[in-house]
Amino acid sequence: MTDEQSPLIVLNPATEEAVATVPGTTPEQVDAAVARAAQAQRGWAALAPADRARLLRRFADTVDSHLDELAELEVREAGHTRGNARWEAGNVRDLLEYAAAGVERLIGHQIPVAGGLDVTFHEPLGVVAVIAPWNFPMPIAAWGFAPALAAGNAVLLKPAETTPLTALRLAELALTAGLPEHLLQVLPGHGTVTGRALTGHPGVRKVVFTGSTPVGKEIMARCAGQLKRVTLELGGKSPNIVFADADLERAAASAPMAFLDNAGQDCCARTRILVQREVYDDFLALVAPAIEAVRVGDPADPATEMGPLISARQLARVNGYLTPDAPVAAQGKAPAGPGFWCAPTLLAPDDPGSPAAVEEIFGPIAVVLPFTDEADALRLANATRYGLSGSIWTRDLGRALRMARGVEAGNLSVNSHSSVRYWTPFGGFGESGLGRELGPDALAHFTETKNVFISTEE
Ligand code: NAD
Repeated sequence: MTDEQSPLIVLNPATEEAVATVPGTTPEQVDAAVARAAQAQRGWAALAPADRARLLRRFADTVDSHLDELAELEVREAGHTRGNARWEAGNVRDLLEYAAAGVERLIGHQIPVAGGLDVTFHEPLGVVAVIAPWNFPMPIAAWGFAPALAAGNAVLLKPAETTPLTALRLAELALTAGLPEHLLQVLPGHGTVTGRALTGHPGVRKVVFTGSTPVGKEIMARCAGQLKRVTLELGGKSPNIVFADADLERAAASAPMAFLDNAGQDCCARTRILVQREVYDDFLALVAPAIEAVRVGDPADPATEMGPLISARQLARVNGYLTPDAPVAAQGKAPAGPGFWCAPTLLAPDDPGSPAAVEEIFGPIAVVLPFTDEADALRLANATRYGLSGSIWTRDLGRALRMARGVEAGNLSVNSHSSVRYWTPFGGFGESGLGRELGPDALAHFTETKNVFISTEE
């Protein structure tokens, strides 16, 4: 049996103990799942909008009544802190409720024309594949499946190799809530087998992918062959820009968790801290003890602020940036022993073009770099191939707006690090992705617009 055919072994990242073994889905099984999904979709799309909305609200309620169980699974398979895991399960509920409210509001246009009536319809695409990552397994899966289902599609969800358990449980809860069989199917498996079978399948009409930029490019190329719709949410190397006129204490107090939340495995992590030169030393004096004080440990302990990395592979990748000559400006502590632990670390490289300063590390490491003025801050902020998020700290409203318009990224926050709300649009510029998810247009992204002209000529 090759690695690609082997079952998925789910490990608890905090202990390295095996949690479960899950068989992968073969290409033949993907074919069968697409056929079943296509049939379920036709029935689902034919339901009255109020009935579809009611079933999705029931699904949301069922998730809500299993919040603790889902959170517990997330702690065990992904090493997330308990507080984060509960928030993530709640986010799935909220996404379903928000999407359910859109079913009866998926309205088209009536456009003035001579000699008749012109109307538009939002037709469902059919079968949609959602290929999810391991960093936020539940919410990111639901960003895709909630609006896709609400718009009348069937969904095939492929979770990441390391985190299939919450997805499998969510599909069971969908059935408990009364959603039709085969409408939401979870197909665990390896990306190169199950993932590729989905992206190459002619019966799949759209692929929603979140993960690494190289895999995103491969998926886009494969989808191009069949003109399959694609949404890509990829990497990030987001700036946290601190001007001298900012509330320095607030900026410094919030900077650590802005890159350490979820152990830095967050595409929106503010991993490039750009500080105006005249307050650089003051900022460092405030931020270093805050980083050193972050509590890293057992994710099931409510006092823990940061858990382990997802896997040995990810730990090795992240440790590659912590060479003996790495310019460490501040470093916290991490447990020894089993588990994929990495200490929170701030690097102060001389070269703003060094790998740690421009590559997505996806671990608890940030860099801090000085800048001189607004133009210099903008130049540094935009000096990566990514463009997902960013924060701007200043008390000058004009400057905040100039910077917010100048930074080439899809999601910016001023005097805050917020990025993702299910009711606001989310997505990246440049190599951070293609298309948008969430927000008021989320359902429309899972439809084709159809224009119909009806003649009134006698
Ligand atoms: P990945 O891109 O390989 O995996 C993401 C998902 O894609 C998984 O479900 C995987 O099974 C699937 N996949 C992998 N290869 C595929 C293929 N050829 N066709 C179809 N599906 C495929 O990510 P990874 O290797 O687990 O992580 C590597 C790096 O990716 C991380 O260090 C990080 O930089 C980045 N990443 C970013 C995000 C994000 O939220 N943007 C999430 C996860 C990983």
